[in-house]
Amino acid sequence: MILLVAALALVALWLVFRARELGGEVRHLHESLQAQTEMAEQAARRAERLHDLTSQLVAIPAEEPVLNAVARQARLATGALAAAVVAPRSDGRPGLVASDGMASTLARAAEAASDSPTPAGDVMQTGEPVWIETRKSLAERYPEAAELADPEGRAWAALPLLGNSRLLGAIVLSFGRPGGFRAEDRSFMLLLAQQCAQAVERAQLNERGMRARVRAEFAERRLAFLAEASQRLASSLDYQTSLSAMAEMAVPDLADWCLVYLADEAGMPHLVALAHPDPVRREGRREFEARYPGSGLAADALRRVMATGEPDLILDVTDDMLRAAARDEEHHELLRSFRLRSVLSVPIAAEDRVIGSLTLALAHPGREFGEPDVTLAMELGRRAGQAVENARLYTAAHHASAAKSDFLAVMSHELRTPLNAIIGYADLLLMGVPDDVGEGARRQVQRIRGASDSLLQLVEEVLSFSRIEAGKEEIRISPVDLSELLRDTVAMVEPLAAEKSLELRLELPDRRLRLVSDERKIRQIVTNLLSNAVKFTQQGTIEVSATSDESGFRVDVRDTGIGIPVEYLERIFEPFWQVENVSTRRYGGTGLGLGVARKLARMLEGRLDVSSEEGQGSVFSLILPRHTPGMNRNT
Ligand code: ADP
Repeated sequence: MILLVAALALVALWLVFRARELGGEVRHLHESLQAQTEMAEQAARRAERLHDLTSQLVAIPAEEPVLNAVARQARLATGALAAAVVAPRSDGRPGLVASDGMASTLARAAEAASDSPTPAGDVMQTGEPVWIETRKSLAERYPEAAELADPEGRAWAALPLLGNSRLLGAIVLSFGRPGGFRAEDRSFMLLLAQQCAQAVERAQLNERGMRARVRAEFAERRLAFLAEASQRLASSLDYQTSLSAMAEMAVPDLADWCLVYLADEAGMPHLVALAHPDPVRREGRREFEARYPGSGLAADALRRVMATGEPDLILDVTDDMLRAAARDEEHHELLRSFRLRSVLSVPIAAEDRVIGSLTLALAHPGREFGEPDVTLAMELGRRAGQAVENARLYTAAHHASAAKSDFLAVMSHELRTPLNAIIGYADLLLMGVPDDVGEGARRQVQRIRGASDSLLQLVEEVLSFSRIEAGKEEIRISPVDLSELLRDTVAMVEPLAAEKSLELRLELPDRRLRLVSDERKIRQIVTNLLSNAVKFTQQGTIEVSATSDESGFRVDVRDTGIGIPVEYLERIFEPFWQVENVSTRRYGGTGLGLGVARKLARMLEGRLDVSSEEGQGSVFSLILPRHTPGMNRNT
């Protein structure tokens, strides 16, 4: 019995012991299960945080906000007290670019500004992470940083921000609890740093691309603007019109106001163009200019620009400046009313002399003139100067040409009157009025008559030229018998041809050639061609032939004279131009005949062509339509 009891007690004891043992095992099992669950949960939480972090960072396009988000997200995801991002500055040395939750002293500790080593500095040198698990080891490895470090900090991690191709910087994390970083903690943080680096790199690329795009767009807009401005400047030979068109373009894109001043001989500024989007303000400014001519900020700037030839930029217009520019209180008030904030004036130069200024002014806040505006304005000023110069040259040339035409018209007219008298009296003498002249005297009178005819032709040529130049040549349309006209003209030059023993031939079709045109002008053209043919031919033949087809008529004047070098075939139609230069000239003449003849032919809707071989002769061909419409026109 005792034995049985003892055995039972033993069994019970064993059972108790076993149960304890089992309990321990179960607890152990339970604990390890719990730890595993926790780890799995933590891993899941971390994966989730990484996912959150990536999706948050991806959405940010610019570098600076991405860096700030990196600091913040890295702190949140790792449960750190504070986080900082350190990256190379423009001088290549590491500097703090973003921080979250860090006292400024700690931020400075993270920054490797001094020569003493710091965790971030080491990371940036080696590309490897730095783990510091106690305050003691921080003090040992980085004494200077330890002094600045957050008093609550117990452990630190500095992680490399490794982009695809290079090290972008480091993330520094400070933890409030001491203790080792487990392998999984480390790999999580490295993974996190990798994701951050990718986001930073993406933002940098994005920003660089955007900057390049903005630069390209700006350059493109600038070119387009200048091209359009040049076009406007060239649109008129009246410089006031073209400068106004250019000024209109400058507002409101470049500035709120655009004013163009030109200085007179005494250096007094005159406003020649003005642009502002609001017509009321524009009018106000005009009234101001009329009331206080050559005064105010822009006019003062013009004086400076004229003295230096350099752009003049007032970034911030102060009331003192306005007061200094004003003549009296009312003037001051008016100047204030334009509310100018910045004024940029650049020179307008012609032939290396500053003749005026282009002024751009900003009135609205939020805008500022920068270097590109100055460059663009300078270029505009240069082009405006060219436009003014071109307009001046054109006006001067136009005046000179008008003066010349007037002179020629008056002179020829004055010459024609006595010349007609000479011709008239010579004709009377030849007719035996009042008395018959003897045979010898008759020949002399005939010579006077011939010379007067040539002189009259010259005078007519000059008159025609000045009439065409002045746009006063008119056409008078009537039926013309071309055959008869050609016979007459040939008969007229016959004596001259005979004097030089030249054969003169006229080839006409049997039927009469009739057209509707201006007879006097055709006569003038053919006479000119024939007298040239006689003048420039020493021996041989001069032949006039005429043909017709359904479109019109063709008159050829062919000679066997000196011919025209091929390079001058077009130049001979220019006014006052002759193949021989003035000093070696043997043939006389004005150099106007062919130019006038070609213009007259065009007025008749026809044309005058030439073909020639030097030393062999020339053919001038007058092409005329059957019917010239009767209207006044110049070509
Ligand atoms: P002008 O005869 O008064 O000099 P034109 O305008 O009639 O002026 O002619 C211009 C120039 O063309 C002449 O000076 C001459 O050099 C050349 N020319 C014109 N006709 C002929 C011709 N038939 N043969 C050779 N040269 C000619």
